[in-house]
Amino acid sequence: MSIATKEQKVKSILDIYRNRDPVFGYRYVADPYLGCSQQCTYCANPIELETQTVQVRLNAAEVLSRQLVKKSRETVGIGYKCDPYMPLEKHYLITHDLLQVLAVQGFPVHIKTRSTLVLRDKKILQEIASKTMASVTFEFCSPFISLAKQLEPNVPSPIKRFNALHNLASKGVTCGVALNPILPFIGDDQKGIKQIIIAAKESGASYILKAPLSIASKHERAFLAFLETNYRELVQPYRFLYGREGIVPDSYWQPINEMIETLAREQGMRCEAPYWTEVQSKQLSLF
Ligand code: SF4
Repeated sequence: MSIATKEQKVKSILDIYRNRDPVFGYRYVADPYLGCSQQCTYCANPIELETQTVQVRLNAAEVLSRQLVKKSRETVGIGYKCDPYMPLEKHYLITHDLLQVLAVQGFPVHIKTRSTLVLRDKKILQEIASKTMASVTFEFCSPFISLAKQLEPNVPSPIKRFNALHNLASKGVTCGVALNPILPFIGDDQKGIKQIIIAAKESGASYILKAPLSIASKHERAFLAFLETNYRELVQPYRFLYGREGIVPDSYWQPINEMIETLAREQGMRCEAPYWTEVQSKQLSLF
């Protein structure tokens, strides 16, 4: 199914949350697009399902520049409600322009993506890293090429993502890996998870993040249709596991969470999103 784009001028681009996101640590978020064209089977992003439209925020950089004036300097998340390096970005350069604003105004950034196009912006990321912090989280649902191809057919292969991670990490950009989403009975086996964590370490990642699949929203429930076609035997186990709430119970998640934390610790990596604030940085410089 093809994705349409809706070019828009927005009044606001910066969302400021009271609390940091429990997985990615975002509090300030500036997304260049709303929705994503890459159509991963499990995607939770708010693309308009009926119209299959991605919103392109044409004036994002200009608006961000204005909105950051007088804001306390904290990490700005990019890629909360989109993949900021989906193919559209080659043409629009909106993520690139947002990074330039952050570099000029001295704000740190944390990007999450499944794309290798982020390498295009290596120089700006290095500039931000030299002033505050630049971090890039690459997301994975499986290390296995054929499974990844089936689940996320339009993003670069796991090997290409690890190569991109290695390239950025070797240039001083903080990099990590998010096991996101962990797909019950498909991508939750220890062998695959361990393979991702070891590859992350060998590529230069310094942290691991993780989140289970949710099917609580209308967008997320589309994954059940994918199961119906491709893993029919899993439809009932998913319905049983997710119940009415559409989220996995603790009894499922806790052992997996602990297993990931143990594997990450063994590789010397933390399970915490990178974060930089001016206040913290000043406090540290006093010691
Ligand atoms: S790359 Fe991320 S945002 Fe885009 S479709 Fe895949 S999961 Fe959704």
